[in-house]
Amino acid sequence: MDNNNQYQCAIVGGGLAGLCLSIQLAKSGKRVVLFEKNTYPFHRVCGEYISMESWGFLESLGVPLTALNLPKINSLGISSESGFMLNAPLQLGGFGISRYNLDHYLSTLAVQNGVELVQDCKVVGVESGQQNNSRVETTRGVYFAEMVCGSYGKYTPTFVNEPARQPPKTNYVGVKYHIEADLPANRIELHNFEGGYCGISKVDQGWYCICYLTDAANLKKNGNDIKKMEANVLYKNPFLKKYFTQSAFVTPQPQVVSNVGFTKKQTSQGGILMLGDAAGAISPLCGNGMSMAMRSSKLLAAQLESYFDGAVSRQQLLDNYQTNWNAHFAFRLRAGRSLQTLFGKTHLTELALRSLNALPGGITERVIKLTHGNVF
Ligand SMILES: Cc1cc2nc3c(=O)[nH]c(=O)nc-3n(C[C@H](O)[C@H](O)[C@H](O)COP(=O)(O)OP(=O)(O)OC[C@H]3O[C@@H](n4cnc5c(N)ncnc54)[C@H](O)[C@@H]3O)c2cc1C
Repeated sequence: MDNNNQYQCAIVGGGLAGLCLSIQLAKSGKRVVLFEKNTYPFHRVCGEYISMESWGFLESLGVPLTALNLPKINSLGISSESGFMLNAPLQLGGFGISRYNLDHYLSTLAVQNGVELVQDCKVVGVESGQQNNSRVETTRGVYFAEMVCGSYGKYTPTFVNEPARQPPKTNYVGVKYHIEADLPANRIELHNFEGGYCGISKVDQGWYCICYLTDAANLKKNGNDIKKMEANVLYKNPFLKKYFTQSAFVTPQPQVVSNVGFTKKQTSQGGILMLGDAAGAISPLCGNGMSMAMRSSKLLAAQLESYFDGAVSRQQLLDNYQTNWNAHFAFRLRAGRSLQTLFGKTHLTELALRSLNALPGGITERVIKLTHGNVF
């Protein structure tokens, strides 16, 4: 066997979860290969609001967040389709940075720390072999690794045999643009419309990220024409009409993803350890999926380091990771799913926002807190 293709850990997918895991393992001296099917830098569908809980973690990996002078966000506005706005402070808050730049920073750091980064490379098969050596088949050749981690995001590849699940009740489509907007840099807004909601907040380069999630039925009803759907559905909310018709679009063509769902999956399957959205995605309205992806990489890195250093067995690694994952995320995913049901339904959203507005201060903040973790 060619030793050049033999690694301690192979990571499938270079989003935040995979990139952060690779950097941590490489920093602790492990031999790591990371496969990403795209080539950095590239845009992704994401609201690009990162909960402050992961600021210190990203800096510890070497991302110079402080020097980047990024917008810090501590004020939230949520509107109903009719234009009623609920305002609330964000206790922990967040910051804005485009995935184009953040993922690019991390991919550069991965290479600097010794990760073998194989871009434009899709993993097409993983087979567990003898003596804990798995065979990883990619579009750029075959690799071998003692451990394989799946950070491939929300779409499970066909080589992972997940147990059959009920298909989600609603199939969502995500759409994102960068625009130049008139909104304070410290504010994030979530605007509801029938069948979905749209977030807007500032990122780097003076841009704003405007990103929405809609029931795919809205798109179908409008002949699969995104611009037509925006005019017919989103513009009923006066805030969205203003942002879409009075802003300069930096990226006129949207980034689009379909078949978005929010389910808890598994932390391991067929010998592959899952992290980030591959283990379970939280509703984007919580603004917390990226921090969860990064945090799950930290939980898994700690277990993998113990395993490679001989302190825990493979089975102990699997058990410890699953226990830690559930303790950190299981409740948050449930809370996110419950909140998701309140959004995108015109009358229910109106009622929920007006009720929260009438309740004593602090209730809205407590609801928001349910979906967030602590600094790590
Ligand atoms: C509409 C929308 C808005 C959102 N807004 C926010 C927000 O504002 N704040 C927030 O915190 N979270 C937000 N999220 C959630 C957040 O984007 C995700 O939780 C986060 O990106 C998950 O990171 P990840 O690394 O697990 O997956 P991803 O970032 O999806 O990365 C997975 C990577 O794996 C690669 N890949 C997949 N299969 C293969 C393969 N077979 N071989 C090689 N490479 C492969 C993909 O190309 C991709 O680069 C939003 C999500 C959506 C859908």
